[in-house]
Parts: sequence; C-alpha cells; structure tokens
Amino acid sequence: HQNINVALIGNPNVGKTSVFNQLTGLNQQVGNYPGITVEKKIGFCKLNHNIKANILDLPGTYSLNASSIDENVVIELLLNKNDKLYPDVALVVTDVENLKRNLLLFTQIKDLEIPTILVINMADRMESKGISLDIPFLEEQLKTKIALISSRKAQGIEELKELIINYKALTTEPCLNASVIDKEYFDNLQKAFPDQLLYKLWLVITQDVNFLNLERKEIQSSFTKSHTELKRLQQKETIKRYQFINEVLKEGLTVDSSIAKDFRSKLDRVLTHKFWGYIIFFVILF
Ligand code: GDP
Ligand code: MG
Repeated sequence: HQNINVALIGNPNVGKTSVFNQLTGLNQQVGNYPGITVEKKIGFCKLNHNIKANILDLPGTYSLNASSIDENVVIELLLNKNDKLYPDVALVVTDVENLKRNLLLFTQIKDLEIPTILVINMADRMESKGISLDIPFLEEQLKTKIALISSRKAQGIEELKELIINYKALTTEPCLNASVIDKEYFDNLQKAFPDQLLYKLWLVITQDVNFLNLERKEIQSSFTKSHTELKRLQQKETIKRYQFINEVLKEGLTVDSSIAKDFRSKLDRVLTHKFWGYIIFFVILF
C-alpha cells in the first residue's frame, strides 16, 4: 500500500474546494467569495487498491510572491520537504475563463520542481463562451499533464484520478529559468548554493520564510538588496512569466467571441420573453 499527498493549489474561486469534494466525497462548504478556505483541510481518496491519497485543500493563492497570511501557509508548505504534508503531486486548479491569470501561479509551482498536474476547471462554460483549447499543445509547452474537468458536473474526475495514480510519469522541468530575471545576480546566487533550487533561494530572499536547514539570514546576508530593488526584480519575474504564458496561450487557446455574443443574444431573447410574461401575468392578476 502506498500513501501519497496531493495538494490543491490555485487562485481563489477557481473550484479547489469543489474538486476536493469530488475527490474525497466530503462536503466542504463551497463559496463564491475569496478566502473561504482559511486553513488547510485534509480529506482522503482511495485511488485504487494500491494507492491512497491525502487530499489537501489549501487557501486561495494568487502567486508565490504575494504575502498574505493565506499565501504564506502555501509557501511554507511548498518550501519544506520535511513537512509531513509536503505534496507528492500538486494539482494547480484553474478556471478556464481566467487561464492567463491563473497560469502565473502554475509556472511558479513548476519552478519548485514539484510534480504538477494542471487542472482546468469549469469546462462546462467553454461552449457558451466559445472557448477551445489545444490540450496536447498546452501539455507540451507547459511540460505537464492536463485534466480538463467540470467539478460542478462531475466530469473528468476519473481521468484526473488516473493522472494522479500515474504521478511518477510527470516531469519536474521548470517553466522559467530564474537567471533571465537578472543573470549576474542569479548566477552568483546559484554558485553560492550550488545544491539548492534557484527559485527556492529567490523565495527565501523575498518572502518571510525559512527552508530546509538554510537560515534566511544566511542567504540574505550576501544577497540582500534594497527593498525597491527586490520589488523591481519581482516585477520583472512576473513580466517574464506572463510573456511565456502569452506565447503559449496565443496558440493553445482560442476564444470565438461571436459564439459568446450569439449566446448572449439568445439569453437576452429568453429574458425578454420572461419579461413580457411577467407583465402579462400581472395585467391578468389585477
Ligand atoms: P475555491 O475558492 O477555489 O475553493 O472555489 P470553490 O470550490 O469554492 O468554487 C467557487 C465557485 O465556483 C462556486 O460558486 C462553485 O459553485 C463554482 N464552481 C466550481 N466548480 C465549477 C465548475 O466546474 N463549473 C462551474 N460553472 N462553476 C463551478
Ligand atoms: Mg475553497
């Protein structure tokens, strides 16, 4: 028997708790406002007769360089391989309608070299919004496996479980090489800590966290920069990540806005019918 940890990570409101409920059969409260999952929640899922998974529902996180209490919970877990909840697999949950923004966090999780599955949720909305995806292309570019699901309609959940079962086949290649942010600075940082993952070192410098046996002070002492300079580099990181994401989505995602418009006009017609229906109803009533 094997017991693995599966972490649900993603922006607020993308459906993490809905996926959690689908996988665990539990019924945690789902909300349409951010911040409803204020702490980690754990449930269990028997994936097959060999593998059991601890499913961890984490608080909503926009990126790993923000700094709310919620986000620190996530960052601290992901930096600490000794944590008993450290994920064997991360499921980065995204909303198909907000893929671009949601993928920022995905690229950061990938850069921590955690085996990652990209879960694209709310697939039930694709048709009405005229959205189509080239899944094989996206999988190749993002170096991941993708589960296209609708947690509301319980679609794609079995396929997602299959991907989790086969988590050992996931590659841990990063999306962005940190040295594109500032070559000299990052090359020196890597030289000073050759055994450490560069992106982790960067998080230890910029975030209020320790990791492994390395003390934050030890790393910061030689690689500290002014607050403004750190902010500038963080912004550059975000820009580089969005450049990558835009390139990938330019080919991998198409939105046919005429379909969306068509759908809206149909909806308008239905609503107008209802409107007249109500008027007639009230005229008859009085
Ligand atoms: P979380 O903040 O990431 O945990 O997201 P929740 O699971 O609380 O869901 C946020 C909102 O999205 C809720 O109103 C859900 O009902 C809705 N939602 C979740 N999954 C889906 C889905 O597959 N399709 C649609 N249309 N809505 C969904
Ligand atoms: Mg939630």
